Amino acid sequence: MFLSKNLGVNEDGHLTIGGVDCVKLAKEYATPVYVMDEALIRENCRNFKSSIEKFYDKNGLVCYASKAFCCKEICRIMKEEDMGLDVVSGGELFTALSVGFPAAKICFHGNNKTDDEITLALSHGVGRIVVDNFSELERLENLSSKLRKKANIMLRVKPGIDAHTHDFIKTGQIDSKFGLALETGEAFEAVKYAISLENVILKGLHCHIGSQIFDIEPFELAAKVMLEFMAKISNELSYSISELNLGGGFGIKYLSEHDPAPYEAYMERVSKVIKQSCKELDIPQPFVMIEPGRSIVGAAGITLYTVGAVKEIPGVRTYVSVDGGMCDNPRYALYRSQYEAVLANKASDPKDTVVTIAGKCCESGDLIGENIPLQKAEPGDIIAVLATGAYNYSMSSNYNRIAKPPVVMVSKGNSKVIVKRETLDDLIRNDL
Ligand SMILES: *Cc1c(COP(=O)(O)O)cnc(C)c1O
Repeated sequence: MFLSKNLGVNEDGHLTIGGVDCVKLAKEYATPVYVMDEALIRENCRNFKSSIEKFYDKNGLVCYASKAFCCKEICRIMKEEDMGLDVVSGGELFTALSVGFPAAKICFHGNNKTDDEITLALSHGVGRIVVDNFSELERLENLSSKLRKKANIMLRVKPGIDAHTHDFIKTGQIDSKFGLALETGEAFEAVKYAISLENVILKGLHCHIGSQIFDIEPFELAAKVMLEFMAKISNELSYSISELNLGGGFGIKYLSEHDPAPYEAYMERVSKVIKQSCKELDIPQPFVMIEPGRSIVGAAGITLYTVGAVKEIPGVRTYVSVDGGMCDNPRYALYRSQYEAVLANKASDPKDTVVTIAGKCCESGDLIGENIPLQKAEPGDIIAVLATGAYNYSMSSNYNRIAKPPVVMVSKGNSKVIVKRETLDDLIRNDL
């Protein structure tokens, strides 16, 4: 009935997440509130990890892409689950380090890292810096030398596989701000340059072909292209690249009709391609990293709002306004991302209306979604927007000086705040 197996309806007809009544959660913590389910997050981590154990002889590491949802508690959970971690800014790195996340298991990404960020990463011994471009290589060499540290790096490569659309295509990826192009020889030149540097140690290659990808084929293709490049480096430069990071991007179910491939199948098929290609190309099997973000936390989260005004425009549409909006979930405004919703207090009623869910910001485009099937909404109802665990809290803003909602974690039938609600004082904290 629901998108995710951790959602249900109890005897009061209320929506539950991880067995906890969402109407009660809304009462206890007020709305809007993000709710995350710890059990599902941990289960997702374990599934990815066990797929590497099962299909790739444990020779790999699953790094959670923390940009999907980053706070201290999620970093603690990732540490406990023995995961690696991806960060893309000094802020994400600082958050991870603040709870003692092992620096050696952190990959530091970004197409324009500042000197301060690189210095922070080097001085804490971050495991891998994923270098995006030539000028970063040069700056990294200089900063490493100054700090008397060695920088273990991967190079971000554009493999020329664009999986951002359903019809993934094999070319046309040169136009991306991320990484070094294979087709033009840019990536090969960067490898040569990296090898020549004294304080930079080239360990691996990295690619990330897109997000919310349902098919496995583009990942197989990317792995093959990357391994061919590793063989070229081995043959022409006599340099052995020992690590291959295949990025994240595994799709999740936002709508009932979405049908992402099971994550285990991904590792099963990609492992086969890697083993086969390595044999054919006569190179050793690399240590493999993957970087799931959305697929770890997306389905584990929902957002609860209270319905305010319901505005029916006859023959046009019905606006159901909620006490949040693009400030806590900008994804519809940004890229027309679709969501399903449920009235948490009427969860067993039929969805016999179709509505536009609007936020409270001063923008016509401030919508959570359009044409959303919903139970008949009245002011005071609690609306749950589903699968908001990824890229919602992490993309939230204080637009209109709206305070950010808290994040509540449910676990074993209980709930606790893991990120506090912002107060009005928080909003003016840095004003002078
Ligand atoms: C965004 C990103 C990820 C995670 O993507 P998901 O779609 O959330 O799995 C992983 N690696 C890199 C480099 C990214 O930019």
